[in-house]
Amino acid sequence: MSVKIGVPRGMYFYKYYPFTKAFLTELGAEVVPSPQTNKEILDMGSRYCIDDACLPVKVYHGHAHYLKDKVDHMLLPRLTSVVPREYICPKFGGLPEMVKYSVADLPHIIDVEIDLYKSKSNLIKSLYEAGKMFTKNPYRIKRAADKAVREHNLYQTSLLKGNLSGKYIDGDDIISNNSGPLIGIAAHPYLIYDSFINMKLLEKLSNRGFKFFLPEMLEKKVIEGKCEAFEKRMFWSSSKDLVGSSLYMIDNDKIDGVLMLTAFGCGIDSLSIDLIKRLEKKAYGKPFMVITLDEHTGDANFNTRLEAFLDLVDRRNKI
Ligand code: SF4
Repeated sequence: MSVKIGVPRGMYFYKYYPFTKAFLTELGAEVVPSPQTNKEILDMGSRYCIDDACLPVKVYHGHAHYLKDKVDHMLLPRLTSVVPREYICPKFGGLPEMVKYSVADLPHIIDVEIDLYKSKSNLIKSLYEAGKMFTKNPYRIKRAADKAVREHNLYQTSLLKGNLSGKYIDGDDIISNNSGPLIGIAAHPYLIYDSFINMKLLEKLSNRGFKFFLPEMLEKKVIEGKCEAFEKRMFWSSSKDLVGSSLYMIDNDKIDGVLMLTAFGCGIDSLSIDLIKRLEKKAYGKPFMVITLDEHTGDANFNTRLEAFLDLVDRRNKI
């Protein structure tokens, strides 16, 4: 019988799940993702995580709690850097410790570190370290790694074509071919694709006849190009993606309004948003709104703000 590896559906899940699944499956494991976030998962996350963590970290704790009795091992990698010469948000690096000390009775944790700061080739080392748990044959690990890279590339291509991550990961898709205005949504993937914590934003837009544009639909080089406007090189991957994609959306005439989602307790976003707001005011005047999500955000409050923003977009388009 194959070993079951749990993968919590939060944080890096929407970026790397196809990679992870392909790698582990090729090595003979059964990969068990947690389900979409629901009230029970969010409540568990809020209960077991430290109070002042950001919302996505709390949600992640809830997913780990959900999986803990259902799997033999749990994958909680320590992501330090996923792009050479850039760091990811420090919360990603501290996740394994945070979860281990907050959620009791966890199964064995696979907490291999991914640190590409100095070179991409460090990934190979990390994959061998993780792969050794399943086989001593380095060729088998290499085959699994190659398959994972192929799968990751296919996933990225699918996102670039405008598909949602859910289409690739779960086989569901809510994109409709609406002809209405185009809304740019600038946010981290774990806010955009978690329909429970974002109050079903994409579905709501789709049902109201709006189209949407997401950061994953942009080539990395476009984001890099936008960030070149700053004097200093940005070395936080999370804020670079957010700032670069927001500037693209604000600057692009085909996009009728920009909605930013941010998580309560996110220090990185508060700096990025401040920067974006200043640039946005100076140059454009396009409908632009920031909505902060936390575990207490209610549907009514969220809907009121969203409706106000969409009305503004509609009105501006009629002028
Ligand atoms: S970037 Fe912000 S929301 Fe994301 S993990 Fe870091 S602190 Fe939390």
